[in-house]
Amino acid sequence: MNPIMFTSPATTEQTKPVIVALDFDNAEDSIRFASRLNPQLCQLKIGKELFTASGRSLAETLINKGFRLFLDLKYHDIPNTVAKACKVAAQMGVWMVDLHTLGGSRMMHAAREAIEPFSNRPLLIGVTILTSMEQSDLLELGINKTPEKMVLDLASLAQKSGLDGVVCSAQEASVLKEQLGQNFVLVTPGIRLDLNTQDDQRRIMTPKEALQAGAHYLVMGRPITQASDPVAVLKEINMLQKGGNNL
Ligand code: C5P
Repeated sequence: MNPIMFTSPATTEQTKPVIVALDFDNAEDSIRFASRLNPQLCQLKIGKELFTASGRSLAETLINKGFRLFLDLKYHDIPNTVAKACKVAAQMGVWMVDLHTLGGSRMMHAAREAIEPFSNRPLLIGVTILTSMEQSDLLELGINKTPEKMVLDLASLAQKSGLDGVVCSAQEASVLKEQLGQNFVLVTPGIRLDLNTQDDQRRIMTPKEALQAGAHYLVMGRPITQASDPVAVLKEINMLQKGGNNL
């Protein structure tokens, strides 16, 4: 395959690193919660459950409120299908979209080519190995590498295939940053303000630790959606970028 010359990666803005995961099952609750927030403080993410329930109209409502939106649908299909889905996401005006790197380099290249013509194209982010998977799950699939090696190999393939970055655990961030460079965007879930509250997450870090490890964006659901004052939490995290030290 011929190498494709892409324009420089879309810039990241680290003054508001949090992407709030709107893990609600309906549009009304999502919009009610989003209206407590401010686009100057955070980005928003909608995933498969909410998108299946409320679809494009909710996505457009949130974008029209001024929020940068991460459409977290983790596309994985033949190159043509994924490319077309990414193109529609770009037409909707989403800020970030993701796909499974296991779809391979042709699929990733096709997705990148499809969004390239958009002047304000979305950041294209790859999912490597799901954090729910461990060594035995990989072996079952005939993959004889450790999850850590697999994540690094897939992230490297993603970079060569024109992706802007990957979703990774904060624990993986420093190695990926070292191997793939400062500008490769690292999006990390599994963030907790209090390490004693891990919920169903396993390998967790505080916002400060994750940012220090090299994460560009922090995907946070419950620590924000269940906070008594979500705006105060977001302001504290944003202060970390300016040298604040409370989290
Ligand atoms: O509530 P909590 O902060 O754990 O939510 C994390 C969000 O990040 C959820 O939307 C979850 O689906 C998502 N996510 C994750 N781990 C991944 C990829 C996405 O927790 N590896």
